[in-house]
Amino acid sequence: MKMPKEVNRYCPKCKKKTKHKVIQVKSGKKRGKLTIGARRYEAKIKGYGGFPRPKPENSKKWGVKLTKKVDLRYKCSECGKMHIRKQGFRIKKLELVGAR
Ligand SMILES: [Zn+2]
Repeated sequence: MKMPKEVNRYCPKCKKKTKHKVIQVKSGKKRGKLTIGARRYEAKIKGYGGFPRPKPENSKKWGVKLTKKVDLRYKCSECGKMHIRKQGFRIKKLELVGAR
């Protein structure tokens, strides 16, 4: 899906419609130690203790989603404040294109 890099949106701080820069937020890296629950889960999926096993990726049978929700933010060009989009939507790939 293609989206424009800049959109006109209402800014609650400026109290009018201004130009907003569209920013896609990418999920951060996992750092440091795993939590105890995560460690137990790791051990289980390696084959200790039975039942929970990883669901196969890209499988409709297991109800695994094929797409991910995007996290879009809008930065006001006048006051520089960031606004988030309340409802994310599912797409495979997002492309930010320049002004037409
Ligand atoms: Zn603003």
